[in-house]
Amino acid sequence: MGCLFCNIVAKKIPAEIVLENEHVLAFKDVNPQAPSHALVIPKQHLTAIAEATREHAALLGETMLAAREVAEKLGLTESGYRLVVNNGADGGQSVFHLHVHVLGGRQLGWPPG
Ligand code: 5GP
Ligand code: ZN
Repeated sequence: MGCLFCNIVAKKIPAEIVLENEHVLAFKDVNPQAPSHALVIPKQHLTAIAEATREHAALLGETMLAAREVAEKLGLTESGYRLVVNNGADGGQSVFHLHVHVLGGRQLGWPPG
């Protein structure tokens, strides 16, 4: 099984877990780009948002709601935060298992680089 994030779901690769339920797993990014930086992933493998269909609607909803909960757990609700989904080469995606970045703890710039 070659997918890094599937291996984190299977606990074959360690990660600092922030939240876990039946549908999703959230863990700290190993190379944080902000004081708080976590990744939220569906446990079911889905390569990218570009591959999502209506069949994945509930799973995508669970992932976004979990991102909201992770932001709350990290104490970002009041100060604000950003959710990011990179897709494909120009989007800067480097791990091909769908993930939502939760970034906060500093003023984030816009537009992104
Ligand atoms: P992408 O560039 O695909 O949107 O984001 C992938 C993210 O996964 C990057 O921010 C990267 O730092 C993170 N990452 C890559 N490998 C690992 C790992 O083994 N463990 C954790 N916790 N994060 C990882
Ligand atoms: Zn995977």
